[in-house]
Amino acid sequence: MGSQEVSNADWQGKHVTVAGLGVSGIPAARVLNGLGAVVTVVNDGDDERSRAQAAELEAQGITVRLGDGATLPESTELIVTTPGWKPDKPLFAAAAESGVPVWGDVELAWRLRGQDGREPAPWLAVTGTNGKTTTVRMLASILEAAGLRTAAVGNIGVSLLDAVLGDEKYDVLAVELSSYQLHWSPSPRAHSAAVLNLAPDHLDWHGSMAAYVADKGRIYEGNTVACVYNVADGLTEELVRQADVEEGCRAIGFTLGAPGPSQLGVVDGILVDRAFVTNRQKQAQELAEVADVNPPAPHNIANALAAAALARAFGVAPAAVRDGLRNFRPDPHRIEHVADVAGVTYIDDSKATNTHAAEASLASYDPIVWIAGGLAKGATFDELVTGCAGRLRGVVLMGADRHLIREALARHAPEVPVTDLDRTDTGAMSEAVREAARLARPGDTVLMAPACASMDMFTNYNKRGEAFADAVRALAAESA
Ligand code: ADP
Repeated sequence: MGSQEVSNADWQGKHVTVAGLGVSGIPAARVLNGLGAVVTVVNDGDDERSRAQAAELEAQGITVRLGDGATLPESTELIVTTPGWKPDKPLFAAAAESGVPVWGDVELAWRLRGQDGREPAPWLAVTGTNGKTTTVRMLASILEAAGLRTAAVGNIGVSLLDAVLGDEKYDVLAVELSSYQLHWSPSPRAHSAAVLNLAPDHLDWHGSMAAYVADKGRIYEGNTVACVYNVADGLTEELVRQADVEEGCRAIGFTLGAPGPSQLGVVDGILVDRAFVTNRQKQAQELAEVADVNPPAPHNIANALAAAALARAFGVAPAAVRDGLRNFRPDPHRIEHVADVAGVTYIDDSKATNTHAAEASLASYDPIVWIAGGLAKGATFDELVTGCAGRLRGVVLMGADRHLIREALARHAPEVPVTDLDRTDTGAMSEAVREAARLARPGDTVLMAPACASMDMFTNYNKRGEAFADAVRALAAESA
């Protein structure tokens, strides 16, 4: 199975272990079973939900072992793992000892593309600590505006396996890849790829920043046309330098400033391309206006430029970049405008689950009443607070690790009023909104960008965002 293309015959009778039920495990088990492999699924959990899922798979002839994700089933020749499984799991140590290869869901999809004899669609791939989903959706919107058959796939929307094996025929795929997926996927070769930014995240999983960065850098390996990097983030450019790419593949930068040759950037409120033009020393091509980007916050303009760079690398015309950006609607809970109440704007950025994301939205408003707190995942808040201290009207804190933010505020912004709710229950959100309203003055923005994960108080960041929006609407109803 070392070779790049795997034909159906290779799967007949092959003993494959699928590690983990769930979003990627179940479809992988089904597909492999359909190809004639002998599939065993191993799963740590043994709850009601996994028992129901197991029963369905077993009815198709797949073996499922619940409550034991650590033991390598005998005669395993290949493991296909859920990307989230940590590399230090005993199952992988056992695999390494027996020389059994481990593939992630993305590796499997890559190897299976073209199985049906069709020319596989090229991948335009995106990774980064923050902005992946937004950028991939913007990219798909631009490609659609260019009349191409495409989908946003990977970490979002259509699963990669469905995209490469389904009936739909795509001209090109906009692929979101997480650091976990990249870790388990050595083979994919994108047409072009972008790393949007790099900040510490998921370090407990990867083991170190160096390991996290190295996994992200895999996205550039073997690119054929362009490696897109962030001029403001030197690490991303360094990854391009280190990548082993196809002859003729170009390094393309994006910047919020005026672009140099081989860059896309912004000049007088216009997004311009100095990379994919005939004379890049002297010429620049207008792509869109900043106002075409939704919302036109600085980090989101950076996302738009990265999406535009990938689309231009694929040969998309400037007008389609503009139309695609205009058609794009952001997903919920990403700097989402909820309402204006008594002259104060309420913004839901529940998706700001780490400090890097919160930094971007805190840079977009002034003055701000900031609602923050939750699970810090090992983060520190000094840099974040230092960067936004001058724009804070006040802060409302809640959640398990709120003391970390409170202490950073005491160190770097002692004059800013802080209301510590001392609560971690779901109902705290409506009190937080009321407290924020009390602190805010007309013209201010109340920004719920927690810089933390939500699971201490809510099922997920969606629920946290909905709780915020509900509380804001209740406030609006009261003051109407
Ligand atoms: P991801 O898929 O990487 O999690 P999203 O597009 O869902 O990214 O955005 C996640 C969070 O990161 C949002 O809170 C958003 O405001 C913030 N964000 C989006 N783009 C950027 C960026 N380029 N730099 C920093 N933060 C960003």
